[in-house]
Amino acid sequence: MSFLLKSTKERADVWGALFRSELPDLPFHVWPETGNPEDVQFLATWEPPPDLLTTFPNLEVIFSVGAGVDQFDMTRIPDHVTIIRMIESGLTDGMVEYVNWAVLTLHRDILAYVRQQRQHEWKPVHNKIASQRRVGVMGMGTLGSPVASALAGAGFLCSGWSRSRHEVEGVTSYAGPDELDAFLAASEILVCLLPLTDATRGILNASLFSRLPKGAQIVNVARGAHLVVPDLIAALDSGQLSAAILDVTSPEPLPADSPLWDDQRVLITPHVASVSQTETAGRVLLDTVRRYLAGERNFHSMVDRSKGY
Ligand code: NDP
Repeated sequence: MSFLLKSTKERADVWGALFRSELPDLPFHVWPETGNPEDVQFLATWEPPPDLLTTFPNLEVIFSVGAGVDQFDMTRIPDHVTIIRMIESGLTDGMVEYVNWAVLTLHRDILAYVRQQRQHEWKPVHNKIASQRRVGVMGMGTLGSPVASALAGAGFLCSGWSRSRHEVEGVTSYAGPDELDAFLAASEILVCLLPLTDATRGILNASLFSRLPKGAQIVNVARGAHLVVPDLIAALDSGQLSAAILDVTSPEPLPADSPLWDDQRVLITPHVASVSQTETAGRVLLDTVRRYLAGERNFHSMVDRSKGY
């Protein structure tokens, strides 16, 4: 049996050294060098090679090196293969940091001041303080819950919405489709941290925007395909929304002719909100493989194929 990594050189160097020293009996290969493909028991990758089934007939576990698994075509991964996604502290910390920045940027109207600066315009706007600002986090999972907790800790009136109810101190909890409207009505700044599934694709659309308070602002740090771009632009034009920070687009990179590039109500970052940190993620990977080799089969980072995340 062996472990195969298909990722960056930095990860290959650091994780290779870690695995070789801590699990010397498990051969560690770095794509495109696979060793004997029949020996590959574990594969860690962002995107699996196209001919996964035939190339690695004895594959048991596929790890996503990121938090999401929407890039995996589940129909091509045999049922007996366990899918495990990345849950690690560095990834969470990075997301908390980015969303704090994005929410503060919108909360303090910084996009408007950047526009004013370009016009040499000095026009202060009376601003609220955090305890007067309602922020909603869609998706209260591994990333959404600590994000909401940090926003509440910074003083915002924070709510969270997910499929099942998550109680987080200082955060008002909403769950399921029946409570979505009440959640949206309480979200002047809406943060999307949902996984991309059939149920959530296109969820940031005209209907949802119309249920937010007038002039609401959005932060999308989940996936570009959650957002219907023409609906966003129409909502910005009508004043239903006033600004958006988008870390993700569909497709990526954002095409050169996208109207989003030059829209001064929109701030775009190139999918940098958070990434798996090499040191901490390597330790998590090693720990999971060790536990798997010891016979454990239940991991909280295991993907539920029926839910798609
Ligand atoms: P989790 O799976 O831990 O959490 C997902 C949350 O969304 C859960 O609370 C879940 O509810 C909720 N949810 C899922 N489907 C629905 C639905 N149909 N209706 C309501 N709630 C729903 O994911 P993570 O927090 O780890 O990551 C979230 C996403 O963030 C990733 O899938 C990825 O797309 C994105 N991401 C973006 C990064 C970036 O740099 N921009 C970096 C890392 C991740 P429940 O708890 O009830 O299951």
